[in-house]
Amino acid sequence: MRTIRARLAVSYAVALAVTMFAYSMVIYLVQRRENLDELHRRAQLESNLIAAALTEAYGARGNLVARDPVKGQPVLSPDVAPMLEGVPGYVIVIGADGDVLHLSPDARALPYGSLVLLLQRVFSADSAGEHTGAIRLAGLPGEIRYSVRAITEAGPDIAAVLSGASTADVVLGPERLLVAMILVAPVILVASVFIGYFLVGRTLKPVDRVVDEVEAITDGRTLHRRLVPVDTGDELARLTSTLNAMLERLERSFVALRRFTADASHELKTPLTVLRSGIERAVRHPRTAPEVLGVLDETLAEVNRMAEMVDSLLMLARADEGRAPLHLEPIDLRELLGEVAETAGILGEQAGVEVKVRIPGEPVILGGDHARIRQLLMNLLTNAIKYTPAGESVEIESTVRDGEITVSVRDTGIGIAPGDLPHIFDRFWRADPARSRTGQRPGVGLGLAISKWIAEAHGGTISVQSRPGRGTTFLVKLPIAAPASGGDGGP
Ligand code: ADP
Repeated sequence: MRTIRARLAVSYAVALAVTMFAYSMVIYLVQRRENLDELHRRAQLESNLIAAALTEAYGARGNLVARDPVKGQPVLSPDVAPMLEGVPGYVIVIGADGDVLHLSPDARALPYGSLVLLLQRVFSADSAGEHTGAIRLAGLPGEIRYSVRAITEAGPDIAAVLSGASTADVVLGPERLLVAMILVAPVILVASVFIGYFLVGRTLKPVDRVVDEVEAITDGRTLHRRLVPVDTGDELARLTSTLNAMLERLERSFVALRRFTADASHELKTPLTVLRSGIERAVRHPRTAPEVLGVLDETLAEVNRMAEMVDSLLMLARADEGRAPLHLEPIDLRELLGEVAETAGILGEQAGVEVKVRIPGEPVILGGDHARIRQLLMNLLTNAIKYTPAGESVEIESTVRDGEITVSVRDTGIGIAPGDLPHIFDRFWRADPARSRTGQRPGVGLGLAISKWIAEAHGGTISVQSRPGRGTTFLVKLPIAAPASGGDGGP
């Protein structure tokens, strides 16, 4: 249940199940209570009717009691008894001397002990009035709700009547309701999960849209985008306007940061130029002491490195601001590879690394900014030479396929650890920052960031494959036709 949609659908179903259960329990209990009350009322009505029937029979034919021909006990006379046989449930008629004059079939079927208990209720009843009660008998389901009524007008021999019925017959109604609920509940629950899933999906659709829109805002270049405002006045409208306000603030601080970097780098350029020319003049001065010369050389190298870094920073800051336009023109890759091969060859020679360039046999024309693409290839080649031990080689070649040029720069150098690969295009990132900045492999960690920007600004890509100790290959893919508007991107 990873999605809110699934969680809500299941929560709906659980809430529905609880509500259904509570509802059916209430219906069950109310219905049960009513059935039991009804049972009492029926017992009362029956006992009244029996009393009335006996009174009427007494009025019509006089004495209602006869002797049982077998046992010799007093019983209801045979012309009255059948009238009571048809009354359902438990019917007991008691004579004035405490004799049991009549037992209905249900009462006759009771075990002796149970019958005695029931009779005790009749005898303990108020001899003048009428009362209702309930008794639970061993071995019988439910209990018996009864009504005992004194009979005074059916002759001196008849004293009282009990009429009752078992609750086991009436509570079945609500039980059937429960069974029906249990059968129907799974169907309702499954349907509610599906309907809930569908409805929640529809409700959350605008949230999905917001997520897609926010996802599309990936970096500084897309920070100017805003979410489509929603005027429903609900939580979604609030979320959208809050996110838009946040994007506004983010964009403002981004712009301020870029402007600061661009301004700072720009301001540093002039003093650095002045510093460099001053040191160069001092180096060339005939009276400069030899021990000072050494210090000045070191300082000059450091100033040059700083000037390079400031140039790179300024370029990246301008690219971020969209103020680093590409000067697009048709470029012959063959010529360009020839140029970089020459410079890289000199660098390779100094480092003892052989630079192999496979120049295509025919001209390969692509649209792009000559200086930038040269800078991109030189960045990759200088890195390859820098990170390859003397005696080994570096290779650059190009292939053209499906309207795309792929330039690969391959070395057999130290390679890059797999954990470092995702970071190498980050600004100021270096695999081994502890290594001397000016020593064996100088650099500031901006070269690849700039290379990535150049490739992407041309509508291309740059990727890397590397194995530590085995070497590294950078692949630059560029479309042959230059993008319509280039140069406003940032790495
Ligand atoms: P740097 O000025 O440090 O060379 P880059 O941005 O050009 O900065 O490179 C970033 C880091 O990527 C380097 O410090 C180095 O650790 C790693 N790297 C780049 N190219 C190679 C390569 N060909 N072989 C091994 N590591 C490389």
